[in-house]
Amino acid sequence: MDQATLIAKLTGAVGADYIHTDPVALRAYNCDALTIYKGQPSAVVLPADTEQVQQVVRLCREAGVPLIPRGAGTCLSGGATPAPGGVLAVFVRMNQILEIDYENHLARVQPGVVNLHLSRETLPRGFHYAPDPSSQMACTIGGNAAENSGGAHCLKYGMTTNHIQGMTVVLASGDAVRLGSDGDEAPGLDLRGFFIGSEGTFAVTTELTVRLTPNPEGVRTMLACFKEVGDACRTVSEVIAAGAVPAAMELMDRYTIEAVEKVMQAGYPKDAGAVLLIELDGLPSSMRPLEALIHGICMRNACASFRAAQSEAERDSLWMGRKRAFGAFGAIAPAYYCLDGTVPRSKLAVVLEEFDRIAARYGLRITNVFHAGDGSLHPNVLFDDRVPGETARAVECGAEVLRACIRAGGVLSGEHGIGIEKKREMRDQFDAATLGIMERVRDAVDPEGIFNPGKILPGGDVEFPLAGASQPGGVARMAAAFSK
Ligand SMILES: Cc1cc2nc3c(=O)[nH]c(=O)nc-3n(C[C@H](O)[C@H](O)[C@H](O)COP(=O)(O)OP(=O)(O)OC[C@H]3O[C@@H](n4cnc5c(N)ncnc54)[C@H](O)[C@@H]3O)c2cc1C
Repeated sequence: MDQATLIAKLTGAVGADYIHTDPVALRAYNCDALTIYKGQPSAVVLPADTEQVQQVVRLCREAGVPLIPRGAGTCLSGGATPAPGGVLAVFVRMNQILEIDYENHLARVQPGVVNLHLSRETLPRGFHYAPDPSSQMACTIGGNAAENSGGAHCLKYGMTTNHIQGMTVVLASGDAVRLGSDGDEAPGLDLRGFFIGSEGTFAVTTELTVRLTPNPEGVRTMLACFKEVGDACRTVSEVIAAGAVPAAMELMDRYTIEAVEKVMQAGYPKDAGAVLLIELDGLPSSMRPLEALIHGICMRNACASFRAAQSEAERDSLWMGRKRAFGAFGAIAPAYYCLDGTVPRSKLAVVLEEFDRIAARYGLRITNVFHAGDGSLHPNVLFDDRVPGETARAVECGAEVLRACIRAGGVLSGEHGIGIEKKREMRDQFDAATLGIMERVRDAVDPEGIFNPGKILPGGDVEFPLAGASQPGGVARMAAAFSK
């Protein structure tokens, strides 16, 4: 099928108002939040329901053209950046909360529902959707499922996979199948778990049944400030080792504090080397002894000041600084590259020291703001993308940071996924036999490689050039194949 025929048939499937092919409009979709890699799609379609998604999948397969699912495009590993010449399916029209079953603590939603919108809907009835990525005001539940996203409160409540009970997905054949169940048990192989975190490379999700969590009776939010980041790290492991699992435990280093306080007044002391934002939730009576325990551990680790938020406004302000920290980096650097390796909690302090040494070798700065309780790091390499060669240097620096996480017994990704960003380092994490199994599994699910090619697994034909760099052969080949 040639390009003109494919576009005509896609238009027939979704309607003329719901397809973009104009190159200017398509530019808005050529990357996700990892803006250093680009890929220009040939069309963007906005399907309205599962049947339209099935038609789009069948057409792309027939034409031999990649299909890339996209939610809000907030992915930080390039997952939603299209293989050049591919068709992007965006779920802005599939944004309905279909059913809320308070009796069974479940909600049935379309993939384009914004994460925070579900909690906003259910909070007045005493429930919320627990996984809370910092991007929750924009990212979608379909994207969260594809990335198995985490968030500040996932320390206590678990990642996205712990909150998805069932899902409807459209396979490469065009068949729609239901994975998991609406009950607590799902017989047979756990295909639901298998598809969660597959980053849009296995199927397109068109409906999800998610768990709703009762709102806690009480919440206590504390800010512990330290002169040395190492002391804050040791506090984190000691708190968890003592058997206290807070709802959230977030660490911000001095560069992050500087950026946040420049942009908004969150109330973090500007002279601190690190702050820990610790939140407890549950019955107020059960939180008092835990707060005392945590306070004691902080003080033993040279905590310079410790306070608990005295009002909802103060709590909001403390959280605002954390949730908007990434945006604030714009105040201290022209560009940043956000990574997410995970290490055992006990290794946090030594790994952060290693990051400083790596940054010094590259003549760059690394800031850290992360989910400390589960060792899920977000090192941000600050750089100036206007300086020739500095983007490539930041990427190399980032690769070293990821390898340092692996050496410390950690993993390549805590929550942002592998995407384009970390696929090269998959060879540092996994041996050839393990990568071979992953390839065979992907080939079994999507034999023609229609869904989101060029992601997760190293090798393959599809390549994404660094922004500003000349295009390597793989991209040119993909574009040429499509224009036939
Ligand atoms: C400021 C900021 C803060 C962030 N904080 C966090 C955080 O705390 N925790 C965290 O985990 N992540 C975080 N992220 C990363 C990002 O928000 C998450 O990965 C999120 O889940 C992506 O959702 P999305 O709707 O934007 O998906 P997209 O970016 O559009 O897509 C992400 C992936 O999902 C696939 N996909 C999307 N929809 C579907 C579908 N319906 N079917 C199949 N595949 C699909 C895409 O192909 C892609 O591979 C942050 C990002 C930003 C910019």
